[in-house]
Order: sequence, then structure tokens, then C-alpha cells
Amino acid sequence: EASGEYFKDVLTTLIEYLSLDSFKTQHYISGVDTSLEETVDVLDGCTPAENKTKPVEPECRSGAVGNSIFYVDDQQESPSDENRGQLNMLSAAYESLDYDTCVNSAWLDEERTMGYKYVVKKDVARWLVVLLTAVLTALPVAAGSGIPQVKCYLNGVKVPRVVRIKTLVSKALGVIMSVLGGLAVGKEGPMIHSGAVIAAGVSQGKTTSFKHDFGFFEYFREDHEKRDFVSAGAAAGVAAAFGAPVGGVLFSLEEGASFWNQGLTWRVFFGAMMSTFTLNLVLSAYNGFPGKLNYNGLLNFGKFDDLTYEIWEFIPFLLMGVMGGLLGALYNHINLKLTAFRMRYIQKPWQKIIEAAVVAFVTAVMFCGIGEENAAAAIWFQTPERSVRSLFHDTSDSYHWSTIGVFFVCYFFLACWTYGLGIPAGLFIPTLLCGAAWGRLVGMLLCLFFPDQKWVDEGKYALVGAGAMLGGVVRMTLSLTVILMECVGNITFGLPLMIVLMVAKWVGDFFNEGIYDIHIQMQGVPIMAWDAPPLSNNIYASEVMNRPVVTLKSVERVGHIVNILKANTYNGFPVVDSIPTSENVCYFKSFGTLRGVILRSQLTVLLKHKIFNENAEVWQNSKVDIHLFRISYPRYFTLDEVDLNPEDMNCTVDLRPFYNPSPYSVVTCTALPRIFNLFRALGLRHLIVVNDNNEVVGMVTRKDLVKYRIWKHRGQMGLEELVIYNN
Ligand code: ATP
Repeated sequence: EASGEYFKDVLTTLIEYLSLDSFKTQHYISGVDTSLEETVDVLDGCTPAENKTKPVEPECRSGAVGNSIFYVDDQQESPSDENRGQLNMLSAAYESLDYDTCVNSAWLDEERTMGYKYVVKKDVARWLVVLLTAVLTALPVAAGSGIPQVKCYLNGVKVPRVVRIKTLVSKALGVIMSVLGGLAVGKEGPMIHSGAVIAAGVSQGKTTSFKHDFGFFEYFREDHEKRDFVSAGAAAGVAAAFGAPVGGVLFSLEEGASFWNQGLTWRVFFGAMMSTFTLNLVLSAYNGFPGKLNYNGLLNFGKFDDLTYEIWEFIPFLLMGVMGGLLGALYNHINLKLTAFRMRYIQKPWQKIIEAAVVAFVTAVMFCGIGEENAAAAIWFQTPERSVRSLFHDTSDSYHWSTIGVFFVCYFFLACWTYGLGIPAGLFIPTLLCGAAWGRLVGMLLCLFFPDQKWVDEGKYALVGAGAMLGGVVRMTLSLTVILMECVGNITFGLPLMIVLMVAKWVGDFFNEGIYDIHIQMQGVPIMAWDAPPLSNNIYASEVMNRPVVTLKSVERVGHIVNILKANTYNGFPVVDSIPTSENVCYFKSFGTLRGVILRSQLTVLLKHKIFNENAEVWQNSKVDIHLFRISYPRYFTLDEVDLNPEDMNCTVDLRPFYNPSPYSVVTCTALPRIFNLFRALGLRHLIVVNDNNEVVGMVTRKDLVKYRIWKHRGQMGLEELVIYNN
């Protein structure tokens, strides 16, 4: 049904696209279409030029845009079952990582006392952690697909439990079962995830799961450092899985980390290299030839001796790229429908187990009469990786076209059904297998038309098909080209692979998003796109920001802090001085002169340890420095864990040594793309909006930005504003 609907969509889209009317720009808000002109009219009330004369009060946003700006109070409760799995919803439950270093007095004290020796020590330790991660990733390499989650983490979203040891162990066991059980899954996604978990674990010198602190690498206990290591871990995972170190580096760059720097490039490269080396060493010993380093990756697609091509072969390659894009989009469309169905109706653990059992059963059913031989079973009854190898390298007479045809159709739907089941599963290999099947069919067809030509090689076309299909599903180009090149050990074939992957991506992108992005969107994760939505320069900070702002004073009463923390879920609070008088020129209500920003986690640590002015003689003898905050990273105390008596409530806390005194701030007329770039490039969590007098008037976080998303459907596009729901 979904595939029928998809083809109808494809046709309609093409027809609408060809009638040039299709790019009528639309602003799409919470299910209401409004033309851009209408939107601009309303937003015009908030242009910087008119800011001084025309305040942007909530009424100003009534009408087309009025319902679209979501204050916390406007946030929806959890979505109803019918709304689950929608692509236009964001979950308020996801928090951001703190990539920006809080350069407060405690941090400066550490820097002053440590000196250059500390800098060198920390740098050496960084390389050591990457080395350990690489080696360990190459050794316990089986775990469950978590690429979408790793992608979110690297993008700056705190995904619960994504880098825990428990996750690693359960996925390791799960993927062994699912691969051995013959399901249409691969182990490469799990390996990438395992690299990320190991990096997160090794770099912290403690395990939260087992509540044990080894006491080292304390200086890496912050989101910035941890996320850099996770990038290196993911690259090490790709390197181990495919024997593709360069592909690993590019994977981290292309798919994951939004904030990148040169130092990180070298460390990620080093990690990928050491991972390949370790795996090679171990596999050589495992295979009985210790030290003979020619076992690059865990997946082995066999080497092509001759992968030459003629210039005119680009025609079939291009067509195969188009085919890959179409099939990939179909795969993603069906999987989207299935995932939405699962999110609505298969929520309980027992239901998930039954579904997995049904899929396993269907996968295992293969009919074969007595005395007969089933050719499809020959492809089916090996691991998917081995089947890919067979399709790449078996001789011409190995398969009948009908065998491969039937296999492709069955496997395509099965792989699609399997991805997203409640089991650890990678999607690279099953997708490559589907592509290799139809690619080989194309090769056979060419053999039929050009029987005596030397260049016709079915295996070569199977490889092109595999690349096209994978490109059409995951929409990666750069890293995938290099991974495939490194995997099959052939550089000359890089150009055709690049072209095929690029075309598959363009064609696929025309219809829907890549599979990882679809899953990320369905979970409502506030992931930041590469760029701000186009044509959004007329949306200003004053539109995007949230008001009223919950602020704290530099010296604040404990009772007030507790009330604020109880009453709000916010994680960051601007610290202000002097609430201005009514003579202020600004039309936005000011909440005081900006002095800094303090995080909820810092406040709870201060409350937990009772760092109150009235207790000064008690705590001043002990060490109140940055270590106090690091020891409780990453699971800081909740307010319930803070034990305060009624006298404590009247005490005061001096926030000055602890808040970040130089937070990033913008003025009200800053355009959305500039704000977006700040968040993207600096990995910000909170951006404070100030007026001309540096007084706080609003707050912007990741969720305020990602809710503006470009919307495409049937050849139309517009700006969509997502609904934020509460769980
Ligand atoms: P994150 O969830 O990204 O870790 P956060 O929890 O501090 O950050 P969000 O959950 O993203 O904040 O915020 C939800 C909404 O509340 C956003 O519109 C944001 O602008 C707003 N907001 C955040 N902090 C404050 C604050 N101190 N005062 C007023 N509004 C705020």
C-alpha cells in the first residue's frame, strides 16, 4: 500500500514540478498554510527599522504567525497516538550539550595554577584516549545500530543513555543474535555506535553505570571534550567495520560533528588509523598468520582485480544513480510509514518482541520441495555480507535473472521491515545487498545486449547498484564513496562511485530525507541542519526569542533559586544586575543588565554543597573549585537530591565566581541565519538577546531555532514551524 502511495506521489510530484507553478513558496505553521507574502506582512511589524516604534508583543504575532511562536506555556502535552511519528513535531525532552566552555573564576583559577605542564599533559592524554578508544573499538566490535543517535549526539543533542556501557553490552549481545539469526541486518552501525560509547567511557575515567570513579582524566569531564572523543570513536568504528580509516574520518565529518577543528581532524584520523591497525593485527592472529597485516576490516567484500570502465558507461551509471535515488526514496517512504505505525501501535515491550519474532519467522521461511534446489536460498542462507561478496564476484553463469529478481523484491521489503524493529541492526549491508542484486541484474541485461564486449562485467554493475542503493537510502556522498573505495580496494573506480552517489542523493532528496534524518525527525530530536532555512533573513531575534526571561541576580537568596528551579525546566539563567527604570528606550521589557549566565547544573552543585555566604567559614577551608563541578558530571544532582532546611532558604549565594561572565549575546534585530550560524559554529546552548543597553530582553535556545524548518512536499516548498511537545 505504501509503495503504491509512493509511486502515486512520485508521479504527482513530477507533474507538479514540471508545471512551474510548483515552487509557490509557502509558510507552513502547525498545519496551517499561509503564503509567504502574508507571513512577511505580519513579520514586517517586527523589522529592525520599526522595532523602535512598533513593539513585538504577542498580539503582533496573532493571525498567520500568531499561533506559531511557542512559549513554554504553549508547549503541547505529549502527542496523541495519531500524532506520534509525525515529522513536524519536536520533543521538549531533549537537552543540549554545553559545547561552550564556561570561563568563570573557578575555571580561570585552574588555568592560573596549572601552567604549561598541564596543557601538555592534557594534550598527551587526549591522544592516549583516542588510542585506547581505537584499540578497544577494534576488539569488541559488535553492538547495535545507533547511527541516528550518534549523529544527534555529535550534533549537540544530549540523547539519554546513548553512550552508556549498558547500551554497549545489550547491543553487543543483540546484534550477535540478530546477525546469526539470519535477519536482514548488518553489524556496521553497531560498530560505529560502539566506537562512540567506548570513546565516551574511556575519556571520562569513570563509569556512571557501575558508579565507579577511577580518578583519572578528570579534566575531560565536560561536554566539549567528550563530544570530540565521541567523534573519534565513531570514526574508529567505521574504520574497524569497513577497514576504511579515511572513510571513518569523513564519516565523522559528514554525518556527525557540527563543530570541527583542525586538532580534532588529526586525532580522529589517528584513531581511525590505530583502529584499522589493531583490527588487522588481531585478525591476522585469529586467522593463523600473526603479523601478516592484510585483514583490513571486519567486512570483506573481496577485491576487484579489474575495475576499468569506458567513458560511455557513465550513461548506465547515471541511470543507475537515478534508480538508486528512486528506490532509496521508496525504501525510506515505506520505512517512515512503518515506523509511524510502530510508534502508534507497537509501544509495549511484548508487542515489540512479537513483531521481531514475526519478522524472524518470515525471514526464515524458504520453500524447497524434496529433491529440489532453491537457487535463491543460496543467496539467502549466507550472511548478508557474504551474499554481497557473491554478487560482486561470482561468475556470469552463477545466477538466473529470475532468481536475483525474486530475491531482490523479497529482500527489499524484508530489509525495509526489519530496520527499526526493536533489535540492534545495521542497515548498510542489507541495503548494499539489495543494490548489488538489482545492479547485477543490470549487468546481466547489458551482457544480453553486448554479449562479446570485454567491459561488461556483472560484478562491476553489482557494485554500482550497491553504491547507488545505499546512497539513495542514507544520502551520504563523501564518506560513502571513500568507504566503498577502501572496502573494495580500488581507487580507479572512485569517480563512477562519486557520480552515482551524488545522483542518487539528488534524486532521493527530491522526494524525502535520508533514513537517519527521518528517524531523527520522528523522534522529535531538535537536530540542527547544516544551514539556516533559506529566505529567513526577515525573521529576527525578537521573533525567535522567548520572553519573559527567568533571570537571577549576582547574589541571590537560596529560597528564590530553589523556587526558580522548581518552577521552570530551563537549564540556563542569565545573571543580571539593576532592573532598569521605566525611562528605558526599549520597547521590550528589560530584565536587567546582563552580567553572565549560569546553568541549572552549576546551581544544584552550589546548593548541594551549601556554598552559601552565611556558611563561608565552613566551606572556605575546603576546596571550592572546578573539581566540585567535574566530579558530578555528567549526571548532576536533581533538586530532590538537594537537602535544604528552612534556615538554608534564607541564606544567600554569591554566583559571581561560578557564572560564565562572557556569554554570547545578540541584539534584537539579529537575523535568524546569523543566530543559526552562531549556534552551529560555536555549539551554543543559550544565546541571550539584549537591547541597546546590554539589558536582557529574551532568550534563544536550540529549540527556538530548529523549529523553523524547510518544508518540501510534492515539489512545493516553504518554511515550516514545528510543534514542540512535552515528552
Ligand atoms: P536545552 O534543553 O537545549 O538544554 P534549556 O533547557 O535551557 O536548554 P530549552 O528547553 O531549549 O532550554 O528551552 C525551551 C524554551 O524556553 C525556549 O523557547 C527557550 O528560549 C526558553 N528558555 C530557556 N531558558 C530560559 C530562561 N532562562 N528564561 C526564559 N525562557 C527560557
